[in-house]
Amino acid sequence: MMAAETKKIEKYDKLTDEQKADPKNIKSLERASSELDRFGRRYEAAGKMLEDSNKTVQDAISKAIEKGITGKLGGSINVSMNGPMQATERGFIKGYADHVKDFEKMVGGAPGTGNHTVLFNFKAGRANYMVGHDTVNLDYPGRSVIFHELGHWWEDKSPAVHNAALAFLENRTYGEKLRSLNEIKGTTGHDRHEVARPDKFLEPYTGRDYHGHATEVVSMGFQHLAEDPAGFFKNDPDHFHFTLGVIRLGHGLPSKEEISRH
Ligand SMILES: [Zn+2]
Repeated sequence: MMAAETKKIEKYDKLTDEQKADPKNIKSLERASSELDRFGRRYEAAGKMLEDSNKTVQDAISKAIEKGITGKLGGSINVSMNGPMQATERGFIKGYADHVKDFEKMVGGAPGTGNHTVLFNFKAGRANYMVGHDTVNLDYPGRSVIFHELGHWWEDKSPAVHNAALAFLENRTYGEKLRSLNEIKGTTGHDRHEVARPDKFLEPYTGRDYHGHATEVVSMGFQHLAEDPAGFFKNDPDHFHFTLGVIRLGHGLPSKEEISRH
């Protein structure tokens, strides 16, 4: 529709002055422009709606998690920091604490009970999480990066989450061959040893294989929740529900009493 209106306007531009003055052509131009305006307003409204629904989904997730856990919530998630002090001084890493708080709110506190401290080690290069060391290496603490890396931490802290992640990955990618990420994505930026089974994940990276030591399914799930929860729900509901499930699972399976109360 929009393309047709645009074409009409382009066509008018190419007319001779005499043709441009023709009331019939003027009328048609006016109609096309007002249609375009209308589309523009609708497009804007749709964008606003998506933004609002994302906010609603995020709030609902936080509330559902708080309400769903009838026992003790996990303790607070603390971050200790290591890295070039000039980064702090420049305000470079400002805001990271808010993202950690948001993450804490989304998952309902640290896995299990008690306080948990994660080390943020600021250094150049691609962000990664060191399994078994409660350590995130990162050069820029954006919201997506923090949710992603804390997702690795979440999986690392809970054997039940890790096993669920392996099962989910196996189930989604059953029968698929491992391929190099560069080949899958047509890129050259990944190391040669980075392989994945891409399935129909929103990002092929989600299917990355670590020989069973870790997965990307929890991390990418948390990243999608940080970036676009409504889109995540719409485009990969299976992965979306899995991610909500591992949030609950990280706090321990509900007791029989908790289940019978519902
Ligand atoms: Zn990752």
